[in-house]
Amino acid sequence: MSDISPSLPILLTAVLLASAFVAVAASDAQDRTDRNPIYWEVHDEDRPQPPRVNPGPAPAEPSPVPSDAIVLFDGSDLAEWAAQDGSPAPWILEDDLLKVDPGTGDIQTREGFGDVQLRVEWRVPEDIEGEGQGRGNSGVFLMGLYEVQVLESHDSQTYPDGQAAAIYGQYPPLVNAMRPPGEWQTYDIHFQRPRFDESGELARPAKMTVFHNGVLVQDGVELTGPVGHYQRPRYEAHEARLPLRLQDHGDHVQFRQIWVRDLEQ
Ligand code: MG
Repeated sequence: MSDISPSLPILLTAVLLASAFVAVAASDAQDRTDRNPIYWEVHDEDRPQPPRVNPGPAPAEPSPVPSDAIVLFDGSDLAEWAAQDGSPAPWILEDDLLKVDPGTGDIQTREGFGDVQLRVEWRVPEDIEGEGQGRGNSGVFLMGLYEVQVLESHDSQTYPDGQAAAIYGQYPPLVNAMRPPGEWQTYDIHFQRPRFDESGELARPAKMTVFHNGVLVQDGVELTGPVGHYQRPRYEAHEARLPLRLQDHGDHVQFRQIWVRDLEQ
């Protein structure tokens, strides 16, 4: 007994510390589990709808462009854009706006990009019609593969991983920071491309941080792979630079400012 009793308080302390550590780890794991796309089916209707945040009114004019940004659209022309077959971009330039011409197909940048900071200002018309995925649907595809969803999500609801500012099929936004139809929306995106090793295996997944109307909605999330409709495709090794693509989903969506900072120059 005499050589056991002195160690008992130490043992009890160790047990208490260990259980406290486990409790903390469990609560962290719970948080992570909730946000982990693998925990949910793709487009799971049971996934919680993000709480709403009013971001305040849209600025009348686009914000100033940083001096090292590449301007992809500023109202003047579509020189930086092409159809996917390389022919001139078939969308509409009108009233200093870039407008989706439904049914003409996606457009993409002539130049390829990897890691970027990206600003996109977009809106849906005030008289927008339709519901769910058929209401102001477009999309910003980093590298043509990784989509930040564009959708009218102020007056309409859809599966949370497919609403505005979702990483489609993977991550709903942390909050719904939409302005009403007819008002300008901004996306500020920091994208880090995936890295592949020499054998083509994934070395590091793509990572994304997104602000919607100045509100943090994606906080450095790791993408499970390219986006898909009712699927989560696995990564396949690809080039370090690929065009940025805007989606024609058959809906009327407009853009007034798009610029990119190339973080790998
Ligand atoms: Mg879309």
